[in-house]
Amino acid sequence: MVRFEKVCKRFGDTVVLDRLDLDVEAGRHVTLIGPSGSGKTTILRLLMTLTQPDEGRILIDGAPLDARARKTIGMVFQQFNLFPHMRVLRNVTEAPVHVLGMDKDEAAERAKGLLEMVGLGDKLDARPSQLSGGQQQRVAIARALAMRPRVLLLDEVTSALDPELVAGVLDVLRDIARGTDITMVCVTHEMNFARDISDLVVMFDGGRVVESGPPEALFHSPRHERTREFLSAVR
Ligand code: ATP
Repeated sequence: MVRFEKVCKRFGDTVVLDRLDLDVEAGRHVTLIGPSGSGKTTILRLLMTLTQPDEGRILIDGAPLDARARKTIGMVFQQFNLFPHMRVLRNVTEAPVHVLGMDKDEAAERAKGLLEMVGLGDKLDARPSQLSGGQQQRVAIARALAMRPRVLLLDEVTSALDPELVAGVLDVLRDIARGTDITMVCVTHEMNFARDISDLVVMFDGGRVVESGPPEALFHSPRHERTREFLSAVR
């Protein structure tokens, strides 16, 4: 579904991705872990075409990532990034109407269903500033899903939240992971989150994959010293 082939990315003299090969199969939930600066967010930004590879190729279903393929990818950011001047419902309908050309009534119906699903059916008319961080993040998840993505990218989506709000967001993501066939690529520093949500964990360092495996295997018996060091530092 998503394939990185020998992707290189540099910022000035910093080599962030070094001939990276990565495969994410359709319907899988993959979590990227690794030290700060190892290039995890850059991988998501490349998929969103917010930045371009210096070398190598990114393929979606075997075809180069272009504007059309990009529309099948949605992203939820650490800082929610809701439109502050729009009410909750409009935050969710805006892109389907203006980017996909969806009929307004249809977009509103779908948005209401999605907001219901994330537990915010009673907040349609609220403004983002009237919501908690956890609620704002759940709006951001509904907004991403409103675009009917085939791939959902999650960039440290719980790390800006107060600890007591994390569980509500995780519950929503767990439901999405279990109840849909969306391919998910997550970046997180929270190993419990990684364990909960993913069926494959990929450890990065120095712009390359160190090792990958199911969460139980990778967390309990990592094969590489680098992974052991990293896990003992974050746990
Ligand atoms: P973290 O866990 O801290 O978010 P990360 O693994 O997601 O880190 P990236 O955000 O992908 O890492 O950044 C990798 C490296 O690329 C860092 O050294 C960062 O400073 C550098 N970098 C990222 N974006 C840019 C940019 N637009 N311009 C210059 N350097 C950048």
